[in-house]
Amino acid sequence: MSHPAIPPLIDRHTHLEGSLDPVWVRAEAERRGSTVPRSLLGLWEGAAAPFDGFIEAFLFGAALLDSRSAVREAALAAARRTRDAGGAGFDLWVSPHFLVVHRAQITLDDFWLGLEEGLAEASSWGLASCVVLDAVNHFGPKHGHSVLNLVLPELPPFVKGFSTGGLEGSPFREWVPVFDRARAAGLRIAAHAGENGPGANVREAVLEGGVARIVHGLRADEATFALLAERGIPVDVCPSSNGALASDVSPHPLPRMLSAGVRCALGTDDPGVIPCNLTTEAAAAQAMGLTDDDLATLRRHGAEDAWCLS
Ligand SMILES: [Zn+2]
Repeated sequence: MSHPAIPPLIDRHTHLEGSLDPVWVRAEAERRGSTVPRSLLGLWEGAAAPFDGFIEAFLFGAALLDSRSAVREAALAAARRTRDAGGAGFDLWVSPHFLVVHRAQITLDDFWLGLEEGLAEASSWGLASCVVLDAVNHFGPKHGHSVLNLVLPELPPFVKGFSTGGLEGSPFREWVPVFDRARAAGLRIAAHAGENGPGANVREAVLEGGVARIVHGLRADEATFALLAERGIPVDVCPSSNGALASDVSPHPLPRMLSAGVRCALGTDDPGVIPCNLTTEAAAAQAMGLTDDDLATLRRHGAEDAWCLS
């Protein structure tokens, strides 16, 4: 009698800039004579943070990504964390426009080369990976076009998707021309929605923005969960990150999302800033009352809808 194979365990949502190992960050800060901000120290110790405190902590790590070797190290930190938790791959969100244009701290060539080296090494460990471009929602669609202007002329083959992140400050319907352009270049479309903005953003992202994948979706209502389930839209859920950055959303809606048939899967989001891994995220899901069958469903969705495996 044969048993169905256990699907590979995938970290469905992790950011390059938020993946750096705290030990490496401390050493780099010391080498550069800079001070790790209190916001980051607090998050490392498990404190909740307002979104702007999180952004400060996130940006401190991002500022260290100013060389090919540092970008490689960040990709390897994501890979090590995945591997050490028994994972087989990860979908990695990256923000090249922020580092290359906004901060002008690294060239695009060095950014891609560092990433390519890190992901190639991860592959040699047996890990699947792919990259999703992250544009800043609150900078608006003009910024989205700037991201595409930067990367589309020579898009590396490991880039599979385009997403919005940051504060949910501009309506998704206004992003449609950006999403259309990214789609025409062969990219899939995702959006952080219903995380720091209202649940209605999730509905708008799907119905008006046409996005194929939602990150978080926490604040959506039951009707929107039904819509996500009906359309089979994958949702990346990151319990530790949500606990720190969206602590007002309690209890966490993951059990209700799964009951509604939403294709949820687990991710770590910014595990170098808000310490976690795939093991802690599964434990957090279990602590919400999910059964072993529910956890198996999360894992199956995690693999079936992963962009790094398709
Ligand atoms: Zn994220």
